[in-house]
Parts: sequence; C-alpha cells; structure tokens
Amino acid sequence: MTPEPDWLTDALRSLETDDLVRPHREVELLPSGRCRADGEVLLDFSSNDYLGLARDLRQEGIAAGAGASPLVSGRSPDYCRLEKRLAAFENTDAALLFPTGFAANTGTVAALVGPGDAIFSHADNHASLIDGCRLSGARIHVFTSHRLDQLASKLGEASGAPRRLIVTDGVFSMDGVLAPLESLCDLAEKFNSMILVDEAHGTGVHGANGRGSCELAGVEDRVTLRVGTLSKAVGSTGGFVVGDSRFIEYLWHKARTQVFSTALSPASCAAALDGLEVIANEPQRREHLERLAGRLRDHLRRINLPTPSTTGAILPVILGDSRQAIAAANGLRDRGFFVPAIRPPTVREGTARLRISLSAAHSTDDIDQLADALDFVVGTEAQKRD
Ligand SMILES: *Cc1c(COP(=O)(O)O)cnc(C)c1O
Repeated sequence: MTPEPDWLTDALRSLETDDLVRPHREVELLPSGRCRADGEVLLDFSSNDYLGLARDLRQEGIAAGAGASPLVSGRSPDYCRLEKRLAAFENTDAALLFPTGFAANTGTVAALVGPGDAIFSHADNHASLIDGCRLSGARIHVFTSHRLDQLASKLGEASGAPRRLIVTDGVFSMDGVLAPLESLCDLAEKFNSMILVDEAHGTGVHGANGRGSCELAGVEDRVTLRVGTLSKAVGSTGGFVVGDSRFIEYLWHKARTQVFSTALSPASCAAALDGLEVIANEPQRREHLERLAGRLRDHLRRINLPTPSTTGAILPVILGDSRQAIAAANGLRDRGFFVPAIRPPTVREGTARLRISLSAAHSTDDIDQLADALDFVVGTEAQKRD
C-alpha cells in the first residue's frame, strides 16, 4: 500500500470532528413501506419511493447491460419504447434518456449555455444543477424565490449575453416547497430567456396526471425543457429530458453525459416502462400519498412541529443544530423509524432537519405511529420533559 497523504488524513479527520461522517448502511427495501437497515427492520421514511414502485417493480430475464453509448449501439428495443412512452406521458414532442437524473441535469445545462452566456440558478437547487451550471462555464447568478425583483434586474443586465437560462427545481428536495414557476415563466418570456425545470420530486406526485410541478402550475408549454428522474416515483433508475424535438435533437448530439456514457440498461428501461404504466393507470396511489401527507401535516401542527404548507410527499422538520438533528434521527431509529437527519452542507447552516419522505406504500396507521414517535422525540411531549 502507498503511504496515506497528509491531506487525506486531515480531510477524513475533519469529517469526524465536524460530526459529518456518514455510515455505509446496507439497506434492503421491504414491502409495506418497511426496510431492513443493517439487519434491523424499520418503517422507512428515507426513500424517495413516493408511489411504492421501487418496492413493487421486478424484471426477470432482461439484459442488465446496454453494451454501448446510445449514439453507437446502446438503444435497445426497451430504450426506444421508453423514449416514445415518456414523450407521450409528458405530452411533449420528444424525450431523451440519460444514465441518471444527475447526468441529465449536468449534461443538459452544460450543453445549453457556455462561456459568455448567463445562468440564473435558484439558491436551493439540487447539486446536479449546480454542477451543470459550473461545468457550462457561463456566468452564474443565484436567486431566491422571495427576491424575484433581484432576478428581474439581473436578467435585464444580462440582455447582452447571447443566451440566458433560468434553472430551478420544481419541488425543492430538502423541504418539499414548490418553485414560483408562473412568475419564473413570466420573467423568462419578458427577458427572452430559456427556462429548465427539474421535476425529480414532481414526477408521479404532482399534477392531475402526475407529470409534476409544471403540470400543477399550468406552465408545461411555457417551460423550455423539463428534466426528470426515473429513480424516484417511477421506481427504476435513469434520467430524462423532455421538450421540443429541435432541442432534443440538439441534446442528442451535444449532451456529453449522454453521448459519452453507456445507455440506460434494458432492465432499467423495462422497469421504467412498467412504472409509467402504473402512474398513468393507478392515480389512487397518488391520491393515497396526498392523504397521508395531509394527515402527517395535521399531526405535525398539533405536536408543535410546523412544516411548509405544500401538498407533496416531502416533509421537513427543521431543528437547527446538526447534533440535535442526529439525536432526533437516532431517537426515532430506536423506536423503529428510519427518518434521515439532513445537515449542512446539504442544507444551509443552522437549518439541520429531519427529512420525512412519504410513500404510497405506507398506511395511515404508519403515519399515526410516526407522529407519536416524533411527538415523544422532538414534539410537545419532548418539550414538556425539557
Ligand atoms: C435525486 C435528484 C436528482 C438526481 O436524480 P438521480 O436519478 O438520482 O441521479 C436530480 N435532481 C433532484 C432535485 C433530485 O432530487
């Protein structure tokens, strides 16, 4: 073995001193919203398995490897079917598949703009959008939902840039809050900017047909491109972009994470096709999820742990301090619940939290039990003990 360099020793030690070491858990998803985490069966509120499909979908006898990039010979029959099915499901001209949602975001953003162009990126965007912005080499302006006036003036100042692009998550992953999509589309139109929305937490959850936050806000045809993942509500793995066929044709040639990466495997494509079928044909999963989320929001209010008043499946319980969040997650785990603690740098300093992800695989009884445990660990019951 080569000797360990000092920088590596220092970097790993500072993770320890800052309480930021992450365990390498082995987790198996089980039916009924359970999981087995390091041998222990827990009620799982950590997975983004919003409709229970990651637990339900199984593929047998289908190839695991695509063998080549899509531009060479990686477009298997299931891959081609999935592209068509996605475009139909999303009610757009065309769809392009990527190995992951992360690759879809980095590859698409970096292909759309370059040095000399201007990007307007929401402060709460996912890491993959942030990395795409950096990779593009365009000038990056960060904006927030409550200061859209500042975004407007930055867009005005960038009127000389050849291309402008607004990028935002539709549903912010760490608090479930929706982006102000209608206002962002107004600004995009006013300043002749493209707008890209990441539907990772919207697909399958929001909108009358489960197409996501753009459908919910009624802005689908005002958004240049929508990016999504097949690995959350769809229950498989992979990423996609949908939009106008001219944009998709451009990305087919220019999005490097798609051009220079092996195509999504036939097995993942087949599972995603099944997942989309379920989303289209079983709206009751989405409705059940919405009822669970409403029920848990009511519980949280009752036990003095208010959470943002949106309708989605992600509910944050903001505790502030990292140690407090970890202690709360450990307390819940001792009582049989897997609720992850999210700490900086994933969220802003002073906003460490529990992040509860609900699934249609949960029952109302599961939600009531979680509320009782939360009450005991961090709610009114715990506050009484202090
Ligand atoms: C999970 C996530 C991604 C990445 O999707 P993967 O398919 O898991 O790579 C992108 N954007 C957001 C907002 C996400 O939450």
